[in-house]
Amino acid sequence: MSQVPKVATASPYEILSSIFGYKSFRGHQESIIEHTLNGQDSLVLMPTGGGKSLCYQLASIVRPGCGIVVSPLMALMKDQVDSLLQYGVAAAYINSSLDFDQIKNIQAQLLSGELDILYVTPERILTPFFLELLTKAQICLFAIDEAHCVSQWGHDFRPEYVKLNILRQNFPNIPMMALTATADAVTKNDIIDKLALQNAKSFVSGFDRPNIRYHITLKKNAKKQFIDFYNNEHRGDAGIVYCMSRKKVDKTASWLQELGIKALPYHAGLDNQTRQRNQETFIAEEGIVMVATIAFGMGIDKPNVRFVAHLDLPKGIEAYYQETGRAGRDGLPANAWMAYGLGDLIILKKMIESNDADEEHQKIEVRKLDSILGLCETVRCRRDVLLNYFGEKQTIKCNNCDTCLTPVESWDGTVAAQKALSCVYKTGQKFGVAHLVDVLVGNDTTKVFNFAHQNLSVFGIGSDFTSQKWHSIFRQLIAAGFLRINMELFGSLQLTAKSAQILKGEQKIDFRIDPKVERPSKKKAKAKKAKGTKTKRAPTQKSYTNDPALFDALRALRLKLSKRRRIPPYAIFHDRTLMEMIELRPSNLEELRELYGVGDSKLKKYGKIFLEALQTGVS
Ligand code: ADP
Ligand code: ZN
Repeated sequence: MSQVPKVATASPYEILSSIFGYKSFRGHQESIIEHTLNGQDSLVLMPTGGGKSLCYQLASIVRPGCGIVVSPLMALMKDQVDSLLQYGVAAAYINSSLDFDQIKNIQAQLLSGELDILYVTPERILTPFFLELLTKAQICLFAIDEAHCVSQWGHDFRPEYVKLNILRQNFPNIPMMALTATADAVTKNDIIDKLALQNAKSFVSGFDRPNIRYHITLKKNAKKQFIDFYNNEHRGDAGIVYCMSRKKVDKTASWLQELGIKALPYHAGLDNQTRQRNQETFIAEEGIVMVATIAFGMGIDKPNVRFVAHLDLPKGIEAYYQETGRAGRDGLPANAWMAYGLGDLIILKKMIESNDADEEHQKIEVRKLDSILGLCETVRCRRDVLLNYFGEKQTIKCNNCDTCLTPVESWDGTVAAQKALSCVYKTGQKFGVAHLVDVLVGNDTTKVFNFAHQNLSVFGIGSDFTSQKWHSIFRQLIAAGFLRINMELFGSLQLTAKSAQILKGEQKIDFRIDPKVERPSKKKAKAKKAKGTKTKRAPTQKSYTNDPALFDALRALRLKLSKRRRIPPYAIFHDRTLMEMIELRPSNLEELRELYGVGDSKLKKYGKIFLEALQTGVS
């Protein structure tokens, strides 16, 4: 893999500038690197895109010997190695995608001290052969990426991770760095414990992702709502669209393709080859929309994913935060958009109840679901709710989420809530939302007559509101814990211990007035359908460059070069570098070297060709 000679040792700051082309460290990066260079263990908690990889990469370059990075994700390994080679760093990976000779070759490089960084899977490092090999090589650190996989509390438990404590036993003097973006205290302690880290120092960064704008909307016509969002803010951008089921992924991907959007499906039901191919295309091409179940995303290191959209309710806040965290790793503005409805909730609850997990586990799943609903129905700042969930307090409004930007209107819903709860009670706590709403608004349905509900005092007492409004009231009552869904009784609603407070008038409740969903006009939708993806960008949050034509030209040049070299486009230059080129118009190599992410190696490889493109404006 590596054709590059080992980089000479220098100070962390010199390496940051000369190799990576960055001007300063972010957050705790410098302390983490120093700590490792001093031979100490550490636990690094940083949100996705925070700059974790740079910590072990830079420490591995500076500290004599090779840094061994344990990662469960083959796509990520290849990606990072591709990028590191562009920076001129002697990096390689070993996994099952390589043949015997390639592996032998890399092992020889490791032993001869040519490598700075070697990525391996946990399965491989745990083999007696590999452990033995490591004793013969000069190792400068072990980095355990995705370290939360060691914990059963987390959502990605991998049994082989638990066995990694053998590294601490066999190599007591080599510093270990465990890294994760998963926050909670139980997982954190579990990592230190299970990996047997010694006197590990924890470096915890704030979990906020300030460049991500959160937007959560009620599902009315999710397709239309999504396409409107996409057309207005993200035409031509790379993004991920999450759906709950495989079937819906396939349908949505085909639908987007019909609209001329470069969309691809990804889910566990596709054969390996197709899945792999789609993932590679997403990484290698510009502007792909990946439509996926949650099976997709872990280890996707693409920095310029500009949006993550959920067409269905995620399973909880943790999952939501992880999935949305894949947007905007490069720090540029990105959107997390979601459309949710009560139907999703019922399907998710059914899924929980039908899986084999024990009751306790199911309860946890239900609570997770409640947490995400709470986020959806909140009248507070979304970021505030998210950070609170992870134990961080935010005191000011973020001004980068829908509730901050368009203040939520609320109304005193106490009387309406009393009507809704009475209706649940009077009908015997045996019915789902649809029927309860029929009773409240006084609809003469067969079901109403079959149960003689037209004779109840609650029949028609809510006729002053639309059915839609009642649906929203029920949803908010569920989210706030005044009603619960009983899956044993076909999703019927039941009162909870808290319901009495409302019924007795001891507690008031405010409801969110959901904003009207703007539907794209027919004319507009038609025009968009015909045009494909190459329309001009709308002047929205994403208009981060003042010369979109030149930006497109530079992106096209980057794509051409990346295809020739069989590496992802962003391994050549990040979007931010291209944007700085447009903004600052460097006219020679020295000026170009000053830009974000332009180190010596990249300057030599690509400096001239990009300067030419900047002068002519074409690729
Ligand atoms: P993580 O592994 O925490 O998800 P990465 O290491 O992939 O994050 O970093 C996210 C992005 O930020 C990458 O594009 C990386 O090159 C960039 N980055 C990291 N550290 C710095 C820094 N000190 N200055 C500028 N950019 C940085
Ligand atoms: Zn906010």
